[in-house]
Amino acid sequence: MQKRYLFTPGPTPVPPEVLEAVGAPVVHHRSPDFKPVYERVLARLREVCRTESDVLLFAASGTGAFESAVANLVSPGEPHLVVSAGNFGERWAAMLAAYGADLDVLRYAWGETPAAGDLRARLQEREAKAVWLVHSETSTGVVADVRELAAAAKEAGSLVVVDAVSSLGAVPCETDAWGLDVVVSGSQKALMCPPGLGLAAVSEPALAAAGSSPRFYFDWQRTRRAQRKLDAPFTPPVSLVAGLDVALGLLLEEGLEAAFERHVRLGRAARAGVKALGLELFSPDEDRSAVVTAVRAPEGIDSGAIVQGVRDRFGITIANGQGDLKGRIFRLGHIGWFDVFDIVTQIAAVELVLADLGAAVERGVAVTAALEAFAAAPARA
Ligand code: PLP
Repeated sequence: MQKRYLFTPGPTPVPPEVLEAVGAPVVHHRSPDFKPVYERVLARLREVCRTESDVLLFAASGTGAFESAVANLVSPGEPHLVVSAGNFGERWAAMLAAYGADLDVLRYAWGETPAAGDLRARLQEREAKAVWLVHSETSTGVVADVRELAAAAKEAGSLVVVDAVSSLGAVPCETDAWGLDVVVSGSQKALMCPPGLGLAAVSEPALAAAGSSPRFYFDWQRTRRAQRKLDAPFTPPVSLVAGLDVALGLLLEEGLEAAFERHVRLGRAARAGVKALGLELFSPDEDRSAVVTAVRAPEGIDSGAIVQGVRDRFGITIANGQGDLKGRIFRLGHIGWFDVFDIVTQIAAVELVLADLGAAVERGVAVTAALEAFAAAPARA
């Protein structure tokens, strides 16, 4: 028997209260057993997204919510601009290309932070119906300044679509205040649920800007009409919705601001621990990097060996790099149902495995550094 720990940046650990709700007897989605739950979930999602607009819920992973945005907004041949600095920016680009958009990509090296000035300049050269952004680029640990990027896109008259799959509920994402037209996310990250629910907060201008691509299951108007009557257009995954209800209740009970502050502190703890191990951070050493801490493997060690080592020795799942970063970085997740002991567990395990692998680590200092960074001054002045 080996205890298992899930420390990836999605899926993330799920609180027992949520699992209990997911495991409760199945109810009928058109019955009074479900409708109040559905209504509460839709209202809580608006609260978490900080929007007055409808938040549309789909039985799909986050990529399904992506596809809803592309299928509803894009017409073949229409100009669109993707800002990409990692795996998920590339996913937007690939999907827009698949739908025949006339695509421009403002492309950064993986690990760079997109700059609003670059976006402004690019939109002056070539207009775009919509700008497609990634809030938290889970492949690199960079959290972009979506507020600034959205402002640049708005100045140019473009709609703003944001991938908030790994950011919603972990770092501030002000849908209405920042003028975000579409925010897509998924259940299995900071929302503390199993995978399987995708969501899209959709503004009136975005609904009015519908394109001509074929769509059916992901048609926003169909889902919106049905949701407004609390009558889902297709059988919803009632068990996941019941779990999401409990999870959102926990998040809102903690308070969004308190949750954001906790994530800032978790990020600080992870970075302090990593640096005390003598390792180099790949993700930026800044409070905004509150979702996942990406770390360069020491010279001569494949990051896959670290990932496998913590798994084999301790039952801990952390993440390897993606794409070209596979083997070069590893990623410590800290979104959703995480506390400081989840960070020190990861740090201690990495320390032990690095020593096994022959790396020169100073023993016994990293956990203390992580705990001290977590406890330090308030995250926000
Ligand atoms: N976007 C980001 C930033 C993600 O982290 C993920 C999940 O890994 C996705 C999109 C894709 O979501 P899913 O795997 O739920 O389809």
